[in-house]
Amino acid sequence: MLSLTIDEREVDVEEGATILEAAEAAGVYVPTFCYHKRLMPFGACRMCVVEVEQMKGRLVPSCSTPATNGMVIHTNTPDVRRARKTLLELLLVHHPLDCPVCDKGGECKLQDLVYDYELTENRFQDSKFEYPVDYYSPLIERNTNRCVLCGMCARVCDEVVGVAAISFVDRGFKTVIGTNFERVLNCEFCGECVNICPVGALTDKLFKYKARSWELKKVNTICSYCSTGCTLTLGIKGNSIYRIIGDDTIGVNKGSLCAKGRFGYQYITSPERMNSPLIKNEAGELVRATWEEALERVASGLAEAKEKRGAEHIGGICSDRLTNEEVYLFQKFMRAALGTNNIDHAGGFSYSGLLKGFKSSLGYAANDITLNDVRCADVIFVVRSNLSETHPVVGYQVNMAVKRDESQLIVASDKTIKLNKLATVSLTHKPGTEIALLNGLIQAIISENLYDKELVSSSTEGFEQLKAKAARYSFDYVEKITGIKEDKVRETARLLSQNKRVCILVSSGLGVISDDEKLAQAVANLAMLTGLVGRKGSGIGFLGEKCNSQGTLDMGALPSLLPGFEDVSDEKVRSSFEEAWKTSIPSQPGKSALEMFAGAEKGSINALYLVGENPVVTYPDTAQTIKALESLDFLVVQDLFLTPTAKYADVVLPAASFAEKRGTYTNFERRVQKLNCGLNRLEGVKTDLEIFGELSLRMGYEMNTSTPEEVMREIGMLVPLYAEVNYSRLGEEGIVWGSPNGGKETTLYGEKLSRVKARFIPVESDEAMLEPDKDFPLLLFTGSIIFHSGSLSTKSPELNQVGPGGWVVMSLEDARDYQLTDGQPVFVRSKRGEIALKVKINKKQTKGTVFIPYHFESQPVNTLTSKDLRPTFVEIRKG
Ligand code: SF4
Repeated sequence: MLSLTIDEREVDVEEGATILEAAEAAGVYVPTFCYHKRLMPFGACRMCVVEVEQMKGRLVPSCSTPATNGMVIHTNTPDVRRARKTLLELLLVHHPLDCPVCDKGGECKLQDLVYDYELTENRFQDSKFEYPVDYYSPLIERNTNRCVLCGMCARVCDEVVGVAAISFVDRGFKTVIGTNFERVLNCEFCGECVNICPVGALTDKLFKYKARSWELKKVNTICSYCSTGCTLTLGIKGNSIYRIIGDDTIGVNKGSLCAKGRFGYQYITSPERMNSPLIKNEAGELVRATWEEALERVASGLAEAKEKRGAEHIGGICSDRLTNEEVYLFQKFMRAALGTNNIDHAGGFSYSGLLKGFKSSLGYAANDITLNDVRCADVIFVVRSNLSETHPVVGYQVNMAVKRDESQLIVASDKTIKLNKLATVSLTHKPGTEIALLNGLIQAIISENLYDKELVSSSTEGFEQLKAKAARYSFDYVEKITGIKEDKVRETARLLSQNKRVCILVSSGLGVISDDEKLAQAVANLAMLTGLVGRKGSGIGFLGEKCNSQGTLDMGALPSLLPGFEDVSDEKVRSSFEEAWKTSIPSQPGKSALEMFAGAEKGSINALYLVGENPVVTYPDTAQTIKALESLDFLVVQDLFLTPTAKYADVVLPAASFAEKRGTYTNFERRVQKLNCGLNRLEGVKTDLEIFGELSLRMGYEMNTSTPEEVMREIGMLVPLYAEVNYSRLGEEGIVWGSPNGGKETTLYGEKLSRVKARFIPVESDEAMLEPDKDFPLLLFTGSIIFHSGSLSTKSPELNQVGPGGWVVMSLEDARDYQLTDGQPVFVRSKRGEIALKVKINKKQTKGTVFIPYHFESQPVNTLTSKDLRPTFVEIRKG
């Protein structure tokens, strides 16, 4: 430790700290322009100069001068103030004084410092800058005239986001921050540059002239899109959100956001939001109804369905965007009030597939690492994960880990992705061959004797079977299947087994093949073999697609598992729930989401209750999905919008958005975080929690919980994993369940492995299913794109502006072979259907494959896909 004195205050700091960091630790304010704790020191603006007694005769920049033992520092002497004042005068020479119309007014560093230093006159005069303002870039306005050249926007774009869309252009007096050739921005539109700009050079176009910053009420809450679980600060005026910013002092994201989190909020105030329940009349039209009428109709419809065929013919599917409390009440309603285990959620065929595999190998369907572990890892192995598209803020952490701390990155992907630029090893394999590649790595680790013998012998079983199966995956065989050569397999095997802190990341939301469960088992095999499981700072991170993918599993929205991953057929477990719920629960596991749809078609499911689910757009095989919905006797849809699915409903119930309710989400780290209500609910809607409570009461079953706190108390009593979670302890950082110290140490599997043996489950790759059909030669990939999440984000027009639908991505080679040009209309046809799109040529797309995002109603890609989730092959012809 170093001891120094700053403005008469004694302070101790770690070796390597700068004077500025020491001042911060001592509680002494030093003004800055170009310094930000998320960025590398830059030392360009000189605003942070201080006097050091031991360095007499000059002022030193505190942000880039290391603190040394015994230093005596003065931060506010007349010389220091004079230097800062001169700097401000120089900045103001060319800076326009348009504060009255600048959106940064009230939170502008320049404005505040000019005020603090009482700069009423300027000794230096010259003409003001007259650079053209970029009004044309979507979402972000760039006014170079206001720029103070701190470079924070360019540095955050490179050091954190990894895009480098803007940078210093030209030299000397002509230096500006700009894009190449002054083009309009064509970037990820995360808005990180806007958030970090200390002045009004980069501003949020959505916020322009909407409100002054001091008029906004700030409410911190959790993003409702992906499972990273970023904390957002809503800027609210009246009953509307006018902007969203990141606060760098709180949350797992420490201020970072992606485009969805920052700009994707307009759906909340969309005029398309439903504001009244709807009931289907005898003419088959959905007409407005009161809540009383609608809830009565739902209660009687479900009761009739139960009476007619029995509860086992009713099913419920909820979204994994519901809060933990809502999911818990929904499954309780289905199990306790209706008496069925036919319950599942949207991730029923992707994320839960991954975690099912994980549970079978390790006993828990949950991850063992935090975002901080990723940031501090020696090696990060990314498998089937285009993080920059699906979980951008996790992608930022990977970018920072590699660029700042020299973490080594291994990218296993079927096409070139953004992360390849940073990779130590790029394993760009043939599509769908991840399992063969993982088996090849396992074979290499075993044959080179690189595996963790102690962990394998003391805490696992099934090693001999794994070894026997892996022997088939010789280097030649793996190269034949995957295209990856021996030297890369060997190098990866060594990196994974010879480093201390290793994180493996796998994300959902990029589905093509139904091998999620097997993929998870193969990843678990690799992690156990290399000793990552249970080792501090190492482990596996499966990244769910939606904000509460993990919580939805934790809360038991699954046909065979009660909350806390408890087996519904286990009598002892079931009886503890029955005792608490004062009713009996069926012992037979229910049907999964896809089985319910298949059952509806065949007549074994006659009523469905869909909450926040839009299967007509997001489930495979649209024609079959519609047929199933049409076959039902009774369908209830609860959502924010009248979705294409809601149009088939007998009753539609309008629900509140994430900004209009309270509750908790559990992110991919198992971190339970609090949602704070920012807005009064849209008139005419109810929260999902209220709806389940009222409906249950009408059906004669009292839930006895009406607030999120009460529901969480009940969860805590019944689910040991959530015993520590209560609202008074959640704070701004939340609590990571299953970890001591609220997640500072992530020892879920450490504890687990000391108690029970984990199992190696050998898995085989299935190359046969990847053989193209001669009539349908192109393998179809569908999944998420960076600007969207599910179909909800498409209700935010600004996201559609930067991420519009209507296209199919093709490789350059295929486009040439098919004689297609960018933007050309085509028909994409599979064995199941055909859709019309436009071609988007991308040289990173792998030859023989095409990609179509699944978010858009206007491009129903699931018209082409199959319910058996096997790979879909398509053909393309000119439109
Ligand atoms: Fe963070 Fe995900 Fe929301 Fe983006 S979408 S702000 S990465 S939680």
